[in-house]
Formats: sequence, structure tokens, C-alpha cells
Amino acid sequence: SDERENLTYPLFGQAIRELARSIADDGYEPDIILSIARGGLFVAGGLGYALDVKNLHVMNVEFYTGVGETLDMPVMLPPVPNVVDLSRKKVLIADDVADTGKTLKLVQDFCAEHVAEARSAVIYEKSHSLVPCDYVWKRTDQWINFPWSVEPPVVRRTGQVLDA
Ligand code: 5GP
Repeated sequence: SDERENLTYPLFGQAIRELARSIADDGYEPDIILSIARGGLFVAGGLGYALDVKNLHVMNVEFYTGVGETLDMPVMLPPVPNVVDLSRKKVLIADDVADTGKTLKLVQDFCAEHVAEARSAVIYEKSHSLVPCDYVWKRTDQWINFPWSVEPPVVRRTGQVLDA
């Protein structure tokens, strides 16, 4: 359908508190939060405060784009988090949405080899995601407008009025 799921900044604040509540009630106490940039940074920052976890890491994962093309699989961009840092840690993977789930799968596979335990938290999960997330705020199959990416990037204004 043409309907979209609209996440506003106020609703994002509520989602983070409720997501943190479900993680805390479940008794999971992560040592570190591993965010998947860029959308996961907002989620990881919010959960870091809500769960009182100060140790945040960032992993850069993007669908590789060649000349106007997207490959089937996402790729991990350097720098990769230090494996020695994480080897005995309980990790909470944080992202904005599990859509195909391929991004999350890549990070879960990395964690399976490098950390003691890994669970995942997302604001949204779509029904076709190839990996189920441990903590989900809301399930949807619609396209989601996130508050941080719904508007185009800010570009320099020239002062010239072009559309008067
Ligand atoms: P994946 O398909 O690997 O689960 O998702 C990869 C990334 O695509 C997500 O982290 C997110 O940045 C972007 N993405 C996937 N679905 C949506 C959506 O419905 N709305 C927006 N704005 N981005 C999405």
C-alpha cells in the first residue's frame, strides 16, 4: 500500500523507553551496545542512556553500491571493532530496522565469532526479515520514514532567489 509508517522524534523517544523496558524486564544486561551506523546510532545512544550502558561501539555496514547498483549482500566497512575488546562481552546489537535482515545477519555472524553473547534490538522488524530480532518495538511491513532521514540533507544556501 501507499501507507507509510511515520516515526517522529517524540515517538522515537517513547519507542526507546519501551524497548529498554522490554530488555530490562527480560533480565538482559549487556556490557556493550554495538550500533549499526548510521540509523542504529540513534537507537544505541538512546538505549545506552535508558539501560545505563556507557560502552558504545559503532559498526559501519552498508549495501555496497557500484555504478548506481546495489549488491545482494551488505558489507562491513573498516574499522571493524577490536575483537579483543569484545571477546568476553555481552553485546546488544542496535539498529533502526530489520528489513531484509541481511545487515543484522552480517553483524550477528561477526558477533557469533567474536563475542560471548549477542542479542539484537530494533525499533522495527518486517515480517520477511531473515533473522528474528530479540527485542522489537513494533512490527510493520510498510516503508518507514525515520525522523533523521525523512528530510533531504542540508545544503548551503546561496542567497540567490531562484523560484520567486
Ligand atoms: P536490511 O534490509 O539489511 O534489514 O536493512 C538495511 C538498512 O536499510 C536499514 O538499516 C535501513 O537503514 C534501511 N531500510 C530498510 N528498510 C527501511 C525502511 O522501511 N525505511 C527506511 N527509511 N530505511 C529502511
